[in-house]
Amino acid sequence: MDGCLFCSIASGQIPATIVYQDEDVVAFRDIHPVAPFHVLVIPRVHLASLADASEADAAMLGRLMLAAGRIARDEGFEGRGYRTIVNTGAEAGQTVHHLHVHVLAGKTLSWP
Ligand code: AMP
Ligand code: ZN
Repeated sequence: MDGCLFCSIASGQIPATIVYQDEDVVAFRDIHPVAPFHVLVIPRVHLASLADASEADAAMLGRLMLAAGRIARDEGFEGRGYRTIVNTGAEAGQTVHHLHVHVLAGKTLSWP
């Protein structure tokens, strides 16, 4: 979508440190990491948030989560553990309106 930051990263118009990409998803380092390992996994298709997902997005959502798990495993965090987060809407603190999964790892994470 025109003017969307994460669409621009996915298409290579805006630089990012990409750690994984395939036909459907792109993963890159968060610019303000809150853990030693912090990447964002996004679908190449624009979807503003999880609230906009429907049955038609089921396969894409599955690939997004599988990619998050694969990246964490490839980075060596499967044994230690890692956290996947999807912020949806204002009170969750969503600031970029292109669906993304945060993958956090590398320290003992507090909750929430
Ligand atoms: P959220 O609060 O879930 O919407 O998360 C948006 C995330 O995008 C934040 O953790 C930001 O640090 C991150 N972010 C914003 N701009 C960029 C960028 N240009 N490259 C990488 N990460 C970004
Ligand atoms: Zn977008």
